[in-house]
Amino acid sequence: MTHSEATRPADFSSLTCDALVVGAGPVGLTMALELTRLGLSCRIVDKAAAPTDKSKALVVWGRTLELLEELGMVTHTHLGHGAPTYHLAAEADHVHLVCRGCGEVIEVRPELAEGLVSGLDAELGFAADVHHLTVFGRCRECR
Ligand SMILES: Cc1cc2nc3c(=O)[nH]c(=O)nc-3n(C[C@H](O)[C@H](O)[C@H](O)COP(=O)(O)OP(=O)(O)OC[C@H]3O[C@@H](n4cnc5c(N)ncnc54)[C@H](O)[C@@H]3O)c2cc1C
Ligand SMILES: [Zn+2]
Ligand SMILES: [Zn+2]
Ligand SMILES: [Zn+2]
Repeated sequence: MTHSEATRPADFSSLTCDALVVGAGPVGLTMALELTRLGLSCRIVDKAAAPTDKSKALVVWGRTLELLEELGMVTHTHLGHGAPTYHLAAEADHVHLVCRGCGEVIEVRPELAEGLVSGLDAELGFAADVHHLTVFGRCRECR
């Protein structure tokens, strides 16, 4: 988009869509994504001609991560007593092992917890979410 295109008043007379999102910051873009997931069409406008060249996202705050988890985009697990650890949902297909000796975090395929999952299902009808599971113990070197 050229600068003159950006500053010229937009002509929306021929535009048909379900929603107009004003502002293409994180809130506007999230709104547009959610509208699209609900099957609604939308158009996003912003008064700025281009994305800012200033970094405003060196970290993602905890409250934002909780919202992204509600939207199904990230998942969390607990690797210790502090704040949870978050993963992109698409990269979270593993179970965590944490060594109490050296602190190493090992990611293993969920099938290794299959005995636990099937046992809980068979005995209690409980559907386990192993992606949230962290197993504490001692690694081969620290035993
Ligand atoms: C220097 C700095 C560093 C930051 N670092 C972090 C960080 O590391 N991690 C973090 O999580 N957060 C950080 N933040 C906070 C984060 O940037 C804001 O919480 C977030 O951008 C808010 O999103 P928003 O969509 O509400 O507003 P904005 O990001 O401000 O987006 C609003 C958009 O609406 C447009 N707009 C406004 N009025 C109009 C109008 N009348 N017509 C059309 N368009 C309009 C603006 O051009 C803008 O693009 C930082 C903020 C600053 C200033
Ligand atoms: Zn949790
Ligand atoms: Zn170890
Ligand atoms: Zn992990």
